[in-house]
Amino acid sequence: MDLFEYQARDLFEAHGVPVLAGIVAHTPEEAKAAAEKIGGVVVVKAQVKVGGRGKAGGVKVAKTPDEAFKYASDILGMDIKGHTVHKVMIAQGADIAEEYYFSVLLDRSNRNYLAMCSVEGGVEIEQLAVERPEALARIAVDPAVGIDQAKAKEIVETAGFAPELHDGVVNAIIKLWDVFVSEDATLVEVNPLVKTGAGDIIALDGKVTIDENAAFRQPGHAELEDQDSTDPLEAKAKENDLNYVKLDGEVGIIGNGAGLVMSTLDVVAYAGEAHGNVRPANFLDIGGGASAAVMAAGLDVILNDPQVKSVFVNVFGGITACDAVANGIVEALKILGDKENKPLVVRLDGNNVEEGRRILAEANHPMVTLADTMDEGADKAAELAYAAR
Ligand code: GDP
Ligand code: MG
Repeated sequence: MDLFEYQARDLFEAHGVPVLAGIVAHTPEEAKAAAEKIGGVVVVKAQVKVGGRGKAGGVKVAKTPDEAFKYASDILGMDIKGHTVHKVMIAQGADIAEEYYFSVLLDRSNRNYLAMCSVEGGVEIEQLAVERPEALARIAVDPAVGIDQAKAKEIVETAGFAPELHDGVVNAIIKLWDVFVSEDATLVEVNPLVKTGAGDIIALDGKVTIDENAAFRQPGHAELEDQDSTDPLEAKAKENDLNYVKLDGEVGIIGNGAGLVMSTLDVVAYAGEAHGNVRPANFLDIGGGASAAVMAAGLDVILNDPQVKSVFVNVFGGITACDAVANGIVEALKILGDKENKPLVVRLDGNNVEEGRRILAEANHPMVTLADTMDEGADKAAELAYAAR
C-alpha cells in the first residue's frame, strides 16, 4: 500500500525524522485555516499517490492564508496523471538552499535492501538516474545489520556530501531506516531531502510503501487505507475476511481454495466463448470452512455487483464436506431472501457429495441449478449470464 505524502510526513515525525509542520485540508477554507495556524509562508501540495506533482502544477508556494485559499481552490479537483486531487497538504514553507535525494527499498532480486542517495536531488531525479547514474550512489544494505552509524556514514560519503553535512544527513538516514523497519515498509523515499538556509537537514517530500502482509502486527496501519478509492464491494468482502478481487465480466464466481477458484475462472472464460464471450466477474475464495454465514456473505458481495448476471458456485468438499456446504448454501439463500435474484449454478464434489446434492435438490430453490461437473456448471452459468444480458 502506497501512502499519501501527509501520511508519510506523520510517520517521519513519529520516528524523529526532521520534518516541517504539515496539515491536511479537504477544502479551500480548511487550507486557509491551516495556513493561519502554521503561520508565514506555506506550500499547498496536492495529495495524490503519484510522483511529479511539482511539474504538474500541484505544488504552490503561498505567502498569505488568502493565497493558500486560492491555490487550494486551483489544486483541489485537479487531475494529475489520472489521479483526482481530493485533499491538499498545507506545509510550512522551507528556505531551500540545496536539494538531495535518499531512498531505501526492498531489493528482491538481490535478496537484501538497497539504499540510494544523491547530492543532486529534486524533481529531475529520474532523469539523473538515467543520464548520469554515477551521480546516484547505490549501496547494498545487509538486512541482518541494517543502516547503523557506519552504514549511514558509508552512504553519505559515497554520495559525496560535504563534510559539514555528514552529521545531519547521517542522523536523518538512521531515523528513516527506523521508519522503514518499524513500519514494515518496502520503500521509504525522500525527494527532496533539503538543506535550509540555516543549515538544517529536513525531509521535505516523503513516499512510503507499506508491506500489507505485515498488517497482522501493524494494527495502526488499517487507518492509513484510502477509503475514497477502495472499491465498496472489495471493502465489504474484506470486512468479512473474504478473499475477493473484482473483475470485469458477468459471471460471479465462488469457490473454496485459491487454486480451485483460479481454475474456475479459466473454465468459465473458456465456456464464455460459446456464449457471447461472457467472462468471470470476480475471484472469490471462501476458504476451507464454507459455513452458511460465510457463504451468505460471499453471495451478498457478488449479488451486489450490478455487472453480475449469473453466479457459479464451485465447491470441493474436503474437511468441510459437501452436505455441510449444501446446508450452508440453503441457509445462505434463506438469509439473503429476495436479494437472491440472479441464477445460481452449483457444482459440488468431494466428501459426502450425494448427500450434498440431495439437500440442494430437496430445497428446490427456483434460482438454483445443479451441475454434475465443473465444465457443465461453467457452461450453464455462462449461458445464463448471456441470456440475462
Ligand atoms: P513532487 O514534485 O511530487 O516530487 O513534489 P515535492 O514535494 O518534491 O515538491 C516539488 C518541488 O517543489 C521540490 O523539489 C521543491 O523544489 C519545491 N518545494 C517543495 N516544498 C517547498 C517549500 O517549502 N519551499 C520552496 N521554496 N520550495 C518547495
Ligand atoms: Mg518530490
